[in-house]
Amino acid sequence: MEKQRYERPVIKKLETGMPNKFGLRSEYVPITHIEGNSVKELLSTYGSPLFVISERTLRQTMEKARTAFTTRYPKVQFAWSYKTNYLNAVCSVFHQEGSWAEVVSGFEYDKAVALGVDPKKIIFNGPDKSQEDLKKSIGNDSLIHIDHLDEFYTIVNISDKLKKKPRVAIRVNMDTGVYPMWDRFGFNYENGQAWDAISKIMHSKKMELVGLHCHIGTFMLAPSAYAIAAGKLADLAHAIQQKFNHEIKYIDLGGGFASRNTLKGAYLPGIDSSPSFDDFAEAVTTALINGPFKTEKLPLLILETGRALVDEAGFLLGTVISNKRSSTGRRITILDAGVNILFTSFWYDHKITPAQPFTHYTEETIVYGPLCMNIDVIRENASLPLLNKGDHVVIHHVGAYNMTQWMQFITLRPQVIMIDMNDKPHIIRDKETLGNINAVEHIPEHVKTLPR
Ligand SMILES: *Cc1c(COP(=O)(O)O)cnc(C)c1O
Repeated sequence: MEKQRYERPVIKKLETGMPNKFGLRSEYVPITHIEGNSVKELLSTYGSPLFVISERTLRQTMEKARTAFTTRYPKVQFAWSYKTNYLNAVCSVFHQEGSWAEVVSGFEYDKAVALGVDPKKIIFNGPDKSQEDLKKSIGNDSLIHIDHLDEFYTIVNISDKLKKKPRVAIRVNMDTGVYPMWDRFGFNYENGQAWDAISKIMHSKKMELVGLHCHIGTFMLAPSAYAIAAGKLADLAHAIQQKFNHEIKYIDLGGGFASRNTLKGAYLPGIDSSPSFDDFAEAVTTALINGPFKTEKLPLLILETGRALVDEAGFLLGTVISNKRSSTGRRITILDAGVNILFTSFWYDHKITPAQPFTHYTEETIVYGPLCMNIDVIRENASLPLLNKGDHVVIHHVGAYNMTQWMQFITLRPQVIMIDMNDKPHIIRDKETLGNINAVEHIPEHVKTLPR
């Protein structure tokens, strides 16, 4: 018989299947495998920590979102939000699934072009498009979403020079009943800025106003906010039709649908409380269908959904470095994965599950990362079974924003693999090396020699 592992005894209140104070059972099943691959083997092959993307989950989630919208509305187009996760393999899966590209910088624009996306299917958002970025994207006939009037004047100027009539939309911000309101991007609906921008574009005759865009926020939990946004954009489109006899081709409702993560301080886990794609689709399409459009003139509905499509497909595997007690006696577990690669732990209570069997005793635990920084907290309070040094954990729903906002701080960024539809792992981003970092640095001659 295999020798049993020693676990320190703890005193714990007996809970005979009783729910905890949130009505939930603190129940844990070890996640020993991800899509047929043993966590232990993955970590020994690719190193710890390790990001894992499930291609199957990416495609299945995309399919759910697509079905929710296309069964309710005849003309739907998704555009993948690059900043949510711009690993080339991830973007390519979404493009294979029919998504256009939604980019917010010249860097992201170039990334999409390099991946082979048809530039006409690139939506260029964001407040900071340089003169060069605009020239290039106008030359390529991409869709430009104007954020402010300075950008409008720059585009007028460029279109004169290039003798081109760029296809543009304006970004509109508005009160949707969710506060604080995101009013720093685009033109405000309520105070007339949006209408003023529309009139300027229409009278200039220098560009073709093809769409109306908004992105009302992120991790939105109220489908009703999208119904309000869709209604306001539909009203603008109708007013444009009335005044200028001009048809808007698309209404773009941006991203922001909540994923199934749990926000810090939330009463219920996201898995139970986040609205589904069906809830969002019902709100949006009802507002559009009941709007002022004739059936044959319904605008294309564009969605720039990011986190809700990718969060669930991402896992972060890690290893326990040590356990200790805080000054107040609280259990502390230190992992080899910190906020440098898990930026979203500032907002989410990421679910953490052990990757090997354990006894069912759990204890309130603070989970720290490996950085020499006090803010390096992965979970302020997680009810976890006792983990030992060298044990592995799986951190769930990490696909959105971590692989773009990660920092190269103290250490190098880890490998990312994608597990394909046949459960085969592929490296999609190499572990960084000291060479990668040093390659972009220069030492002035006079500080090169060190004293011996
Ligand atoms: C970030 C962003 C998105 C994606 O938002 P999610 O919250 O990830 O869905 C879409 N559109 C624009 C303009 C964005 O800035």
